[in-house]
Amino acid sequence: MTDASETKAKAGAAIIPVTLFQQNCTLLWCETTRKAVVVDPGGEVPQILAAIKQAEVTVEKIWLTHGHIDHVGGAADLRDDLKVPIEGPHRADKYLLNNVVTSGEMFGMTGMRDVLPDRWLEEGETVSVGELSFSILHCPGHSPGSVVYFNDQMRFALVGDVLFKGSIGRTDLSGGCHATLMESITRKLLPLGDDVSFICGHGPGSTLGHERLSNPFLTGDL
Ligand SMILES: [Zn+2]
Ligand SMILES: [Zn+2]
Repeated sequence: MTDASETKAKAGAAIIPVTLFQQNCTLLWCETTRKAVVVDPGGEVPQILAAIKQAEVTVEKIWLTHGHIDHVGGAADLRDDLKVPIEGPHRADKYLLNNVVTSGEMFGMTGMRDVLPDRWLEEGETVSVGELSFSILHCPGHSPGSVVYFNDQMRFALVGDVLFKGSIGRTDLSGGCHATLMESITRKLLPLGDDVSFICGHGPGSTLGHERLSNPFLTGDL
């Protein structure tokens, strides 16, 4: 778990890697109100609850970037525990959310539950936690319903599995499409600006500018 609270003026974050895919479940909070959101609770709910307790924040929402099991497998349990609504992803991932248990069994992952959000998210909508507000970009390609959460004031985004440091989301899974993913990245993500930093679904975060200049999938070196 890493604590990024000193690097962000108004937000704090703790990353809890969950599942065998080491997915970056992210606890993100508004420093002013200490209200928080859990992004992509893929599993290992007790660890997530421990992180919430340690951060001394009040979770008011769960956000999902897309419907893959390592991002959503613990969402139903966490919602039951915390009694908070789930927002996202885009409804195009509904078929994935209806198949969490079945997909998990393929990887020998037990204890996961199918889940549907309380609110589907659409391009251009806004979601908030405490005093922080994020706009939604629908970025299909890795999965049809992938969304990115972008806070303009902090120049910060939660990109799920759309873009990674040095790589991009895989497109060989059900509903994936390489051309669509590249379009999402080049037409929606990169125009947000080089100075935008992001937390992604796996591995370390980065900035859009660093990726634009060095990511082999974006520089044409691959
Ligand atoms: Zn994924
Ligand atoms: Zn993932």
